[in-house]
Amino acid sequence: MAKSVIASSNKIRRLAPRHPRRLVLKKTTTLPISIFGNVLKQIDQAAKLLDLDKSLINFIKMPRRSTICNLPVRMDDGTYKIFVGYRVQHSIARGPAKGGIRYHPDVTLDEVQALAAWMTWKCAVVNIPFGGGKGGVICDPNKMSVGELERLTRRYAADMMHVLGPESDVPAPDVGTGPQVMAWIMDTISMHEGHAEPAAVTGKPLVLGGSKGRLEATGRGVMITIRETAARIGLDLSQATAAVQGFGNVGSVSARLLEEMGVKFTYISEVNGALHNPKGIDIKALSDYVKAKKTIVGFKGAVKANPKEIMFQKVDILIPAALENQITKTNASRVKCKILAEGANGPVTPEADVILKKKKITVIPDILCNAGGVTVSYFEWVQNRLGYFWTEEEVNRRLEEKMVMAFDDVWKSSADYKTTLRIGAFVLGIRRVVEVVALRGIHS
Ligand code: NAD
Repeated sequence: MAKSVIASSNKIRRLAPRHPRRLVLKKTTTLPISIFGNVLKQIDQAAKLLDLDKSLINFIKMPRRSTICNLPVRMDDGTYKIFVGYRVQHSIARGPAKGGIRYHPDVTLDEVQALAAWMTWKCAVVNIPFGGGKGGVICDPNKMSVGELERLTRRYAADMMHVLGPESDVPAPDVGTGPQVMAWIMDTISMHEGHAEPAAVTGKPLVLGGSKGRLEATGRGVMITIRETAARIGLDLSQATAAVQGFGNVGSVSARLLEEMGVKFTYISEVNGALHNPKGIDIKALSDYVKAKKTIVGFKGAVKANPKEIMFQKVDILIPAALENQITKTNASRVKCKILAEGANGPVTPEADVILKKKKITVIPDILCNAGGVTVSYFEWVQNRLGYFWTEEEVNRRLEEKMVMAFDDVWKSSADYKTTLRIGAFVLGIRRVVEVVALRGIHS
C-alpha cells in the first residue's frame, strides 16, 4: 500500500471522535430537557381531547425512520475529521417527508426527532401534501471554510441519498444552512441521477429553480399570524412594542415586516449579544449592518442589553426566533408580553405553556407561526415539478391565503376544544394525519 494512503488512514484514525466514556452524573446535575419528550407530551394532550385509540397514538408518535451517518471530511489542513449526521423521517403518511437540515454544534438525535415530528403536524396544519422530516449535522459552520462546508454537505447528501428524493424526502435550509448548502445537495443528487433534479431540495438559489419569496416566507408567515392574533385580541400593531431573540432569517424578516406595520422593536438579541432602544431599533439599518458585519454587536442605533434577559422585557409581542427550550418552567413566570409568537421551533416547553396560559399570554405555536417557510417550500416543489415559475406577488398571495386559512382553522379548533392555540393546532394536525392513516391502513 502506498505510504501516503497509510499515513492518511492513520490520520483518520487519530482524528475520529472518541466516544464518550460512561457519563457520570453528579447528584446536582439537572438533566437536559428532552425536546422529543416535549413533543410526545404535546401529542398526548391533543390525543386525549380526540379520544384516540392508544395503539394509533403510539403509531403517530414514533419516527418512521432515523438514519445516522459518520461523515469523514477532508479539512483544509489535509487532515480528516468525522462529523455525525442525522436524517429523521417522522411521517410519510400525507406525502414525502419534508424538513430542514441544521448545522450546529449542539445537534442531537433527540432534537432532530422532535423537529421532524413538528414538521409532520406543521404540514398538516397548513394542509400541504407532505409528511415530516428533519436533518442535522454536529458541526460549527462559523468555524469552517467554504470548501470544508461543501465537502461535508456533499458527503452528507451522498450518504443519505438512499432516503432523500423528490418523492420520498425533501430537505430545506434550517439554522446554519442556506441556499448554497441546498445547491450542493441538489447537485450531488443530480450528479448521481444523471440529470438535474431541482425538486430534490427546496430553499435553493433562484437560478437553480428556487421560488421567489422563499427566503422571506417564514418571517412573512410569522408576521401574518401575529397580525391575525392582534386583530382577535384587540392589539393595535401601530402602537405595539416587540422583542425578538435571534436576528437571522426568521427574526430579521418578521421584524422588518412588522416594523412596516408600525411595531417598534425595543429589544433584539443574537448569539453574540443584545440591543435596546426604547424608541425602536431601525430594522432596515440593523439588517444592512448585519449583512456587512455578520453580527448585531457594535450597531450604533441602540445600546447594549443583556441577551439573557431579552425574553423578560415588558413588550407587547415577543418573538423567540433562535433555538428550542428558551422558555421553561423556571423562567416562564417572568415573561411579560401579550403575544408570544414562536418563530423558532419549540422555544416554549409544555410546562412553561401551563404558566403562560395562567398569565393569559396568547402563544402562537410554532407549527402554525413559522409554517410560512414550509408552505413556500411546497410551492417551490410544485413549481419545480411543473417547470413553470410564479411571480413573487403570486407566491405571497398564495402564502397569505394558506396562512390565514390555517390560522382560522387553528383558532376554531382551539375554541371548539376549549384549549390553547398550541393544543388546538395539534388536534387539527393529528386529525388530518390520522384520517389519512385510517384510510390507508397500517401495512403489516
Ligand atoms: P438563522 O441561522 O438564520 O438565525 C438564527 C439566529 O439565532 C441568529 O441570529 C443567531 O445569532 C441566533 N442565536 C443562535 N443561538 C442563540 C442564542 N443562544 N441566543 C440568542 N440568539 C441565538 O436561523 P433561522 O433560519 O432564522 O431559524 C431560527 C429558528 O427558526 C430555528 O428554530 C428554526 O428551526 C426556525 N425555523 C426556521 C425556518 C426557516 O425557513 N429559516 C422555518 C421554520 C422554522
